[in-house]
Amino acid sequence: MKKVVCVLLGALALGFAGEMPAQDWSKEYETTKISDRLYTFWRRGIRNIFVVTDEGVIATDPISPEAAEVYRAEIARVTDLPVRYVIYSHEHWDHVLGGRIFKDEGAEFISHENCLKFFFRNPNPDLVTPDRTISGNTPFSLGGESFNLRYLGENHGDCLLVFEFPEERAIYLADLATDGFIGLGTLPDYDIVEYLRSLREIEAMDFDLMIGAHGPARAGKDAVVIRRRRMETIIDAVGRELEAGTPVAEIAGKLHFPEFEHLRGYQSQLPAFVLRMAQFHEMGW
Ligand SMILES: [Zn+2]
Repeated sequence: MKKVVCVLLGALALGFAGEMPAQDWSKEYETTKISDRLYTFWRRGIRNIFVVTDEGVIATDPISPEAAEVYRAEIARVTDLPVRYVIYSHEHWDHVLGGRIFKDEGAEFISHENCLKFFFRNPNPDLVTPDRTISGNTPFSLGGESFNLRYLGENHGDCLLVFEFPEERAIYLADLATDGFIGLGTLPDYDIVEYLRSLREIEAMDFDLMIGAHGPARAGKDAVVIRRRRMETIIDAVGRELEAGTPVAEIAGKLHFPEFEHLRGYQSQLPAFVLRMAQFHEMGW
């Protein structure tokens, strides 16, 4: 089931080529320099980051065995130094598979501790099990370069880390926000209450640039704000329709949100959002 969810997410990310000028979704891969130390790598709908220091590289999600080969080659175009660490953003297979190439060169693998139960419940031969786990907000340093791993609690799964780069006033954010309307928030493992709480906590963080795992290399904080507002707006609107007795299957056809219709994937995703919010109203979850 989880695999289906994650593959779906990747497919959704790839599915709106005509609607999204800020990212060329047809690109097989792309590496973008954010600062002298921070880079982001894109592979077929999934984005990660890597940090280059004088003592080696901190990589993040390998994505898949074949993506990891391309990712490693892209890192080698920036530096000859070894990859010392691989930090997983969260537990899902569409992000974390394929780490073997980094393990073989001696990298240490790190995730939040709550990822382990998912990894043990859902074994995958392409997954490198973390060597070390962290349990809360953790500063991370190598070669004089520092950034923060922020843990916000349950939201999309319960082991997602926000990578915070105060120097760049940037965050790397997996699966909690994009610049568009893709299915983040409608998939079964989003706890709506905790998701909204997490988005508010991210909004309170001090940053200007968001590097999203299913979006363009650069988005603004407004991508987080709009996503939270959109979730709340749809929740309220669906609640009103349910109270008025509108059958769930007819609600999407009655709702129209001009403030969000410019977002990538708006038309195709609206019914899924309506259904999820109707379930939320009915179940309290
Ligand atoms: Zn995910």
